[in-house]
Amino acid sequence: MCGIIGYIGERPACEVIVKGLKRLEYRGYDSAGIVTGDEEALHIRKGAGRIDELVERLKLLELPGKRGIGHTRWATHGVPNDINAHPHTDCSGKVALVHNGIIENYAEIREELLAKGHRFKSDTDTEVIAHLIEEELKSSESFEEAMRKALLKLKGSFALGIIYAEEPDRLYFVRNESPLVLGIGDGENFAASDVPAFLEYTNRVIFLDDGEYAVVGKDFYVIKKLATGEVVEKPVDESGWTLEMAEKSGYPHFMLKEIHEQPRAIRDAIHGNIDAVKKAAGEIARYEKIFVVAMGTSYHAGLVGKYIFQRLAKRIPIVEEASEFRYEFEDLIDEDTLVIAITQSGETADTLAAMKLAKKKGAKVLAIVNVVGSMATRIADLTLYTHAGPEIGVAATKTYTTQLTVLTMLAIELARVLGTTSEERLKELEEGLREVPELVEEVLRHDAALRELAENLVNKRDFFYIGRGISVPTAMEGALKLKEISYIHAEGLSAGELKHGPLALLEEGVPVVAVAPSGKTLDKLIGNIEEAKARGALTIALGSSEALKRVADTLIEMPPVDELLSPMPYIVPLQLLAYHLAVLRGNDPDKPRNLAKSVTVE
Ligand code: GLU
Repeated sequence: MCGIIGYIGERPACEVIVKGLKRLEYRGYDSAGIVTGDEEALHIRKGAGRIDELVERLKLLELPGKRGIGHTRWATHGVPNDINAHPHTDCSGKVALVHNGIIENYAEIREELLAKGHRFKSDTDTEVIAHLIEEELKSSESFEEAMRKALLKLKGSFALGIIYAEEPDRLYFVRNESPLVLGIGDGENFAASDVPAFLEYTNRVIFLDDGEYAVVGKDFYVIKKLATGEVVEKPVDESGWTLEMAEKSGYPHFMLKEIHEQPRAIRDAIHGNIDAVKKAAGEIARYEKIFVVAMGTSYHAGLVGKYIFQRLAKRIPIVEEASEFRYEFEDLIDEDTLVIAITQSGETADTLAAMKLAKKKGAKVLAIVNVVGSMATRIADLTLYTHAGPEIGVAATKTYTTQLTVLTMLAIELARVLGTTSEERLKELEEGLREVPELVEEVLRHDAALRELAENLVNKRDFFYIGRGISVPTAMEGALKLKEISYIHAEGLSAGELKHGPLALLEEGVPVVAVAPSGKTLDKLIGNIEEAKARGALTIALGSSEALKRVADTLIEMPPVDELLSPMPYIVPLQLLAYHLAVLRGNDPDKPRNLAKSVTVE
């Protein structure tokens, strides 16, 4: 995730763009850059650092021209540095562009273009787009045609702002699975990833849809379909947002915005890891002794990963809290050990310490991380990125579901290398995984119902979350979300454990939330719900089976999903429930008391 802002009109473009970039700063970024164009040429300045610092260092406000595009980068391919910062150009320097998203097939395209003599400057996936357009220009009648032909060759997610030196009257903006919105002014037009970037100039907006692009001049704009070039008529909306609302895309809190971003985040995690997991699986296949180390929500992701690894790759990882691992397992780590470390920030002190110990003992270390270039990526032998984009709410949401995505992909690929699961089953899971973002979208439609449920539960003192098998970690994560932001006591445990102790705590009206996807142990879980109900508990079930309707007091209907993929959609209602309870109790879910986003102390 990153920020794009484009301008064409009568003002100095650099001023509008610098302001826009500052407005997009909240999205988090590691570097930034601007391209402007005048009648003569394009002018590019870019670098790593904060916007204010770059304005000074690169003299961004001295760039000439009345049209231009700016970008704040959140690296996915290539470390954050001056060269990898956007804009990127083709060999001639006439095509410059900025990109938000991930190009899945960039490696292949790069090879082809290298063979045709193109020279690359950066390590990004983005740069291939500029060269591909340059290549298509050789056999096209117009720049627009070349751009369209080039973009149709890309797989993945991309919002783009494109400028061509030889067309001083226009800019191009494209949207495909990454956000982009046009701002319509008077004798000037704008485009950005998010409305706040230009809200001080205009509140008249057009939201592009996936697979559409816009040709934008100062007095005109036209929107077309990427696939056919056909013109699309779109309404102009008036945004009623204040700046503060717009920063959160209209959501009252970042956490809610991030919960709703999960379909996009999961798609990016898939796009961004197709090749990476193949490579990683090859490198880790020889290890039979596997530890997964993590803390908090990442630890729960590790627990889910354990089930998937077991079932598909027939490898049984030991999942340990990083804080414990260091002291308990030191003597057991050697050159034949694989340590998978999961940390969203890449800076979690306990996890880093566990990784360092593992390295010292000669183990192979694989990190699953959201932040490119973070400490964990420097310690690890290899890294898989979750590509969730910056997460601002302290309670992890989209970083969790994307960790699950990556672990699932890795387990599938490992099972393929080891030949432990039939190809047919692996294909079925891969197809199922591609549908998960839609399932999450479906679940997000329960938001209003979950808020209503929260209203009835707002005064409860204790909650129990139960599940079986792969749903035990989902129950634990649901309980953790509730504790973190609503400050209500909650326990997440395996349903089988209930009668070995915790059942004694169940009194009239205590909520018991059952995570009940269809699968091996659903019948058993239904029995456990009945046990709780018999003690007066208020039972809430998440599932798709008819049988649940009979036993649970409240059923949150879930779309049918393969049990191994269920942890992704099933955590979403629990995130929403915790969120609404927090808000109803007057807490700020984005900044829970006593907690920090990344725990950099042990
Ligand atoms: N994949 C691109 C890069 O790593 C774009 C990242 C972004 O969305 O900022 O440069």
